[in-house]
Amino acid sequence: MQLSYRVRMILYNILLFAFAFLIVVFCVFQGTSYYYINQAKNNLLSMTQDTTLYIGQEIKASQSSDPLSDRLVANALYLCKNISASENNRVLLFDINGSLIADSVDISNTNLLDTEINLSKTESAPILTLKSINNASIAYYVSPITIDNSTIGYIGFLYPMRELDTFLHVTSVLFAISGIIGLIILVAVTTSFSRHFFQPIKDLTKISKEINNGNFNLTIYYKHSDEIGDLTQAFNGMVTNINNVILQLESERKRLAGVLASIDDGLLAIDKNGNIITSNSYIKTYFNVSNPKTIYDFQYQSFLRDIFDSLKNGKNHISEEIDCNDRNLLLIGSPIREKGFEENYLIIIRNMTAARHLQDEQRKFISSVSHELRTPLTTIIGYTDMLTRRQVADPEIINRSLNTINREGHRLLRLVDNLLNVNKFDKAEFDFKKTNLNIVVLISEVVEQMQIKATQSDIQINYISDELPEILGDYDRLQQVFINILHNAIKYSNNGDIIDVISTLEDDKIVVSIRDYGPGISEIEQTRIFNAFYRVEEDRSRGPEEGGSGLGLYIVKQIVEKHEGKIEIVSQVGEGTNIIVSLPVLSVLLYGGNADEKAEA
Ligand code: ATP
Ligand code: MG
Repeated sequence: MQLSYRVRMILYNILLFAFAFLIVVFCVFQGTSYYYINQAKNNLLSMTQDTTLYIGQEIKASQSSDPLSDRLVANALYLCKNISASENNRVLLFDINGSLIADSVDISNTNLLDTEINLSKTESAPILTLKSINNASIAYYVSPITIDNSTIGYIGFLYPMRELDTFLHVTSVLFAISGIIGLIILVAVTTSFSRHFFQPIKDLTKISKEINNGNFNLTIYYKHSDEIGDLTQAFNGMVTNINNVILQLESERKRLAGVLASIDDGLLAIDKNGNIITSNSYIKTYFNVSNPKTIYDFQYQSFLRDIFDSLKNGKNHISEEIDCNDRNLLLIGSPIREKGFEENYLIIIRNMTAARHLQDEQRKFISSVSHELRTPLTTIIGYTDMLTRRQVADPEIINRSLNTINREGHRLLRLVDNLLNVNKFDKAEFDFKKTNLNIVVLISEVVEQMQIKATQSDIQINYISDELPEILGDYDRLQQVFINILHNAIKYSNNGDIIDVISTLEDDKIVVSIRDYGPGISEIEQTRIFNAFYRVEEDRSRGPEEGGSGLGLYIVKQIVEKHEGKIEIVSQVGEGTNIIVSLPVLSVLLYGGNADEKAEA
């Protein structure tokens, strides 16, 4: 188990304390023992000197007599018991050979002090050995008895070191208590100190973890200006810097994501293991794959994997077009080579459906225009050929031929005009000559003009109108609007049908509706018929007369919008078509705001 730094610090302190404490205990015990032993030695020495004075001569005198005289033995015993009684110790007296003369205690254990006597003999000096008997310290002391520099015998003491024992006992208890108290204080102080010391480190650790979890808005508060203060300050600075860098990176990332999102193409950057480095939302929309992590997540788009494999195999540029879910997709693949980085790959997916659609429309348009041009031209050439070659004299035939040539010429002119108009609208250079005009008069003229064509198919145009205020507009262009709409209505009506034209005032607008009872237009087609070149499928056409370029309604819409008006269509297949044009009245255009208020003004 790995102990924490704080616990280890507390343990080291305890060890250090114990070591210092033991040294103190050892020194105190050693010093005190030395003192007490010295004191005992001095005491014993003085007793030895007393003994020498008292009985020394007597022992010396008895050296020659064998056995020892009773008087000497009795005196010695008396002396030993006397000293023993006064000092409360055991006193033994020996002759020069180490044989016991007298013992203050009646236990005749004579060789008790043999070792000390032998030592004293060899060293000719007093010997003290400290022994512990039954937990009591006893000094074994032997000193030579010397008269005129010659040893005449030995005195021995078994001297209980009671003071030393008492001291050791009391000191041990005191040391034990103080040791425990010291340890408790040490642990308490070290714990509290270490807590104080480690708190900033703990904070650092906590904040580092938070930062690791992505929270960079944290700083450590530490009020002191010491080393930890320096560390926390440096740490806070570092976090602020990281935060700033992250914010910068984040804003860069967002900007890049914005750029990627605003690109109309799908974009896929892949590393060489097929992991997706970045992609934009178009990829998900195109392929209906949410959150792809690798190229292999595009299970149903094997063409992406094929491009990736080719790039990985060293191909430099890939460009191919495929059909995918009713879309034309252009796939462009190329390697991304950056110095110091591994090679990655970029695949761009461009939706070409609209462009291809436009191409198709244009292609259709060209063939349609060619056809449109060809039909009247063929008729005109046919009639002129006939008139010139056959030299027709019948004025009725000549008249009919010239009428047809004239009609077809007009048809050609209308087509060319339409084409020129479209070109101008596209370049936004159409020039409107706006004047105050009466829309009822304008529509009446158009109806009258178109009625001639309608009558050919036995179609009746009915026009009803309220009294209407003037509007500001380009007379010729607005005529063109209603001609085009009525032309369609006639073209798509059945023989004998009627066409209702109604103009009314609604709020600030003049609303004109042109309703026919022809085949109608499906909802899908309604959204397309105002597009340039769009024509509903060819089988709806009823012969060369009804052919068109698909420009009529496009031009209508452009003109109406240039008059700040609106065009709508209400139609159902089989029920006919109602085209509704609304145009603002003059007062609104001049003053802006409510027409009634303007009328009052
Ligand atoms: P152009 O007007 O240039 O000679 P066009 O009539 O074919 O050619 P638009 O007038 O733009 O072209 O009309 C677009 C398509 O809308 C037509 O081809 C036709 O299919 C459909 N359409 C327009 N008006 C009607 C209508 N009243 N009833 C049914 N279909 C209509
Ligand atoms: Mg038309």
